[in-house]
Amino acid sequence: MTASRRGDEPSFIPYARQCIEDDDIQAVVDVLKSDFVTQGPQIERFEASLAEYTGARYAVAVSSGTAALHLSCQGLGIQAGDVGLVPAITFAATANALRYVGAEVAFVDVDDRSGLASAEQFLAAADGLAEQSEKQVWLPVSYSGLPPDLPRIAAAARERGAFVVEDAAHSIGATYPDGAGSTCRSGSCSHSDAAILSFHPVKHLCAGEGGAVLTNDQTLARRIRRLRSHGVERGRNWLYDQVELGSHYRMTELQAALGLSQLGKLDRFLERRRAIAQRYQAALERQPFAGRVAMAHRPLESAWHLFVIRFANAIEREAAYHYFREHQIGVQVHYFPVYQHSYYRNFAGGHVSLPGAEAFYAACLSLPMYPQLTDADQDRVISTLKSFLQR
Ligand SMILES: *Cc1c(COP(=O)(O)O)cnc(C)c1O
Repeated sequence: MTASRRGDEPSFIPYARQCIEDDDIQAVVDVLKSDFVTQGPQIERFEASLAEYTGARYAVAVSSGTAALHLSCQGLGIQAGDVGLVPAITFAATANALRYVGAEVAFVDVDDRSGLASAEQFLAAADGLAEQSEKQVWLPVSYSGLPPDLPRIAAAARERGAFVVEDAAHSIGATYPDGAGSTCRSGSCSHSDAAILSFHPVKHLCAGEGGAVLTNDQTLARRIRRLRSHGVERGRNWLYDQVELGSHYRMTELQAALGLSQLGKLDRFLERRRAIAQRYQAALERQPFAGRVAMAHRPLESAWHLFVIRFANAIEREAAYHYFREHQIGVQVHYFPVYQHSYYRNFAGGHVSLPGAEAFYAACLSLPMYPQLTDADQDRVISTLKSFLQR
């Protein structure tokens, strides 16, 4: 961040931002001077590197995380009459993917301290369904960078015959215990049929816009690859055959080159995010914070997309939001429970109310967290919170 100052005005600190360096820029310029600006070698290299980094067998790069969610559902054959289970605390796109394929959405409650949905909460949502659908897909979300209990969620889903699509938009680089003494990488699909990533600028890797589907299933990877490009199979000579209705969700070479260059820095970015999380944690354990604000989660194996704190109540959270904003600090709220959006209120027959999600939403606030956040910027965030609590 450049510390551009107008007079005595402190510079604005956003809650998240991309970190683009000279070699990232050069990678994009090189593509512009090359023969391919879309569908060329950068896409293939980016996909191979994503598969290697996450440990998944296949990666399919697409135009956004939302496209990746849509294609995962479509690729698994989810359609009208089917239902998807979505944690209430997530970005709306997780639920929207199901609506694109005509499936119903059932919302899953979350832990009111971590914002994560557990296996029990998925099971409760599945048991609450009015009628049994043909197919089910569960979409556990690695909220804020911490994977949920995927081994237990996957075991419960298997028992119910449901697919699992991991929304790992927040968690590339995170690990989680497999329950048998080893650790798994987020996006490895060790406990899911597919996982999705996003390369929106606020996420860990910036490709301008972009996303990817990860899977260990060759048939699914092939189908998603076809669906990303109109549902077309290539034939001999000039022939091609559209065998099903796909979309145009391709990524450009410019985006892939940027994403690939960023992927090479991911471990450095993650290290910085973890250091920032540790500094926040150390500060918030001291007075006057202790007892006034709580941290949504602590484990260091998180990829720390967000650093979320919780206030005692909704009034205090709202006052803090405005106080930070007045002090040029761009805190954010992640997320408004998805079922409370007008669209979902209008179409979801019946009133939805999930106490864990509502309690979490009422109290949460995301503090600035991104690799280029300096210690001085972070100190300003911490001292602003301190002066808020002592006001
Ligand atoms: C960002 C995000 C998405 C969608 O990603 P886009 O690339 O913006 O389409 C999906 N799920 C979650 C949890 C996200 O944060």
